[in-house]
Amino acid sequence: MIEVIEAARDRKPLPAEKIREFVQAVVGGRVPDYQIAAWLMAVYLNGLDEASVFALTAAMADEGTTPPRMRGRVDKHSTGGVGDKTTLILAPLVSSLGIPLLKMSGRGLGHTGGTLDKLEAIPGFRVTLDDQELARQMDEIGVAVVAQSAWLAPCDGIFYALRDVTGTVDSLPLIASSIMSKKMAGGAPNLVLDVKVGSGALMKDHTRARQLAELMLRIGASRGIRVTALLTNMDQPLGQAVGNAVEVMEALACLSGQGPEDLREEVLTLASHMVSLAQMVAPDEARLRVEKALDGGQALEQWQRWVRAQGGDWLAAERGLPLASSVPVTLGRRGVVAQIDTEAIGRAAQWLGAGRQRKDDRIDPSVGIRWYARLGQSVEADEPVCEVLAPPGIRRDQAMEMLRQAVAFGSPRARSQAVLDIVSHA
Ligand code: URA
Repeated sequence: MIEVIEAARDRKPLPAEKIREFVQAVVGGRVPDYQIAAWLMAVYLNGLDEASVFALTAAMADEGTTPPRMRGRVDKHSTGGVGDKTTLILAPLVSSLGIPLLKMSGRGLGHTGGTLDKLEAIPGFRVTLDDQELARQMDEIGVAVVAQSAWLAPCDGIFYALRDVTGTVDSLPLIASSIMSKKMAGGAPNLVLDVKVGSGALMKDHTRARQLAELMLRIGASRGIRVTALLTNMDQPLGQAVGNAVEVMEALACLSGQGPEDLREEVLTLASHMVSLAQMVAPDEARLRVEKALDGGQALEQWQRWVRAQGGDWLAAERGLPLASSVPVTLGRRGVVAQIDTEAIGRAAQWLGAGRQRKDDRIDPSVGIRWYARLGQSVEADEPVCEVLAPPGIRRDQAMEMLRQAVAFGSPRARSQAVLDIVSHA
């Protein structure tokens, strides 16, 4: 183990077998946390040569892969955002075109929301299925979104928990190996990555986001996975809804042909690239298929089948999930929205109980935010920039203050379009 730490400290490449032995020892519980943490910090500070990143990712993936009968044809992954409910729409939309989609999703992390927490806002929805149930559901309706199994790329869980508490999350080789090991282990041959960029994202800067996307494309290519990466905008929340039940309602609106335009555009672009890879057609042709499925009601019917299959009360969602009482937030001055601290919006939602402060906290599905102010928009003094959904009290007052501070007036510097860039192999 010391050899592995010293190699990272001294920027010396290691043979792939040594890296594999290290990963196996970590998964086998034979490496103490302080040695793993020392290695993570050395990688964070020095980076890792590309051959070692490939070897690390492959070794992490090979420690736990999905059985073939449960694999989807296409997968997607987002690096985490505020108001990112795209999986709720993409899963039924893409699978309604006959493309099997099995997605392992996560819970909220820090200021970013989690797909599993959102799905659990639907009464009865089960995110843990046993292997047989999962295989049957994939056979019958071709879609499932579930919690990551303990056996899927377990090394990432160990690294991630330590990265979270050692200041080593924001490292390109560690992020790329974390994401790509899980995707390789999931086994889908095609992958669309949604790399979020901006004030609410892990990557605040476009150049680094692009470097991350390109690195993940090369890792995918090294294992024969066809990858397209979209760089999408987190300089403002995606859509209006931030929370859990409120995001489910917005996803449902989008599936019904309504909802915010930026959300629809991002969903259509992501879905087009997923369909283009899976069905080997040009993105333009794929977009026509996707638009037809969304606007023709096919995706909504698949949503109902999917929610029902995982035990969820789709009719309750259709009638409207319970939301906490709402209060508007105004700024008391007029101006043009120049900048939005999107991370602060995510933190305010987390503070209200839509996310967790500590690992074991319970989520309140009914609280959240409806964010209205868009970059470049003129806002009047008495015009709400957002609405807070929460019971009255000190927490709500504090969240409202956080949200007031999240807007800066001036001339807009940030870009407002949903999709900023597309990176693919060709
Ligand atoms: N998402 C992941 O799965 N891993 C990371 O390291 C960062 C975002």
